[in-house]
Amino acid sequence: MREGNRIARAGRVVVKIGSALLVDAERGVVHRKWLESLAADIAVMRTRGQDVIIVSSGAIAVGRRYLGLAEGRLRLHEQQAAAATGMVRLAHAYQEVLNAHDLTLAQVLMTLDDSENRRRYINARNTLDTLLRLGAVPLINENDTVATDEIRFGDNDRLAARVAAMVSADVLIVLSHMDGLYEQDPRQFADAAHVAEVKGEISPEIEAMAGTEMSTDGSGGMVTKLAAGRIAMSAGTTMVIADGTAEHPLSRLEAGARCTWFSPSANPKTARKKWIAGSLKPIGSLTLDAGALKALNAGKSLLPAGVTDIVGDFQRGDALSVCDPGGKEIARGLAAYSAEDARQIMGHKTGEIETILGYRGRDELIHRDDLVLS
Ligand code: GLU
Repeated sequence: MREGNRIARAGRVVVKIGSALLVDAERGVVHRKWLESLAADIAVMRTRGQDVIIVSSGAIAVGRRYLGLAEGRLRLHEQQAAAATGMVRLAHAYQEVLNAHDLTLAQVLMTLDDSENRRRYINARNTLDTLLRLGAVPLINENDTVATDEIRFGDNDRLAARVAAMVSADVLIVLSHMDGLYEQDPRQFADAAHVAEVKGEISPEIEAMAGTEMSTDGSGGMVTKLAAGRIAMSAGTTMVIADGTAEHPLSRLEAGARCTWFSPSANPKTARKKWIAGSLKPIGSLTLDAGALKALNAGKSLLPAGVTDIVGDFQRGDALSVCDPGGKEIARGLAAYSAEDARQIMGHKTGEIETILGYRGRDELIHRDDLVLS
């Protein structure tokens, strides 16, 4: 089987696009023809029924000239100001090219906090899921304008990997100027060997190949790409680094263009379940009645109606231990409601949630995708 088929077979794909591919640095304008070709490739994927999320840089590169900022390196607050005007133009360009294929763009700006804070994480995941279900193409960038040092990713390679992990993407495509990883820096060593695949984990030997050099376009070079690879692989997402400079970068990759695959040992579903069952410490617990226990064993979600007791003070997104009527732990999962709200809706039918809480949240207390039976 052709390696490119890994792309065609993926249900959910995140595509990361760096500033240098998209924006003419000197003029601060978007490479329109290239972007049109990318949109055409994305349209092909959408027609096949694949979910596509774009993580794009370029807000600062596009925005700076509209504020009359001089050439050279910008200070942080200047970058933040440039991003505020550049992001509008960037999103507009994406919207136009996708519109030509009847696709709707949805802009999502995130900070590091959104992928680390568990409440925001589950929120962002739900929103992205909803957008994808409704057929939109989310365009994600860092919220550069408000992100301060502590809540900044700083580079979109890692942001893209966090997003891929968050939505359990099958593949993360990182488009760059290089067709992957080399054993030595190919700019110094013309005969440096290309690495076609990194399997299972990123070893110290692989890390040494990336060196320490950062690229000049503000984002990371191979170092941050490997950091992204580590995040993606541990979530069961396959990452691929490919050359995106020519038009139609995604169909080229599918047709077998040279690239480096980072292949995880698990798939996103098993990796996520392992994470829920093994890495998170339960903050509270729920006790079920016999009916809910039966539903869970049949692979269903946990509804508030089947819960008889709630212990602990947890927030949405926190891990919970789920117990049978006798108090024995039978599952772990992520709470879709805070303890306070969960106590109010416990024992009630899903249809009553809105009247009790005053808002309509999820139907489930723990969704089956967030639940792992012991
Ligand atoms: N978020 C930045 C921008 O849109 C780019 C960060 C990066 O290139 O990694 O300009």
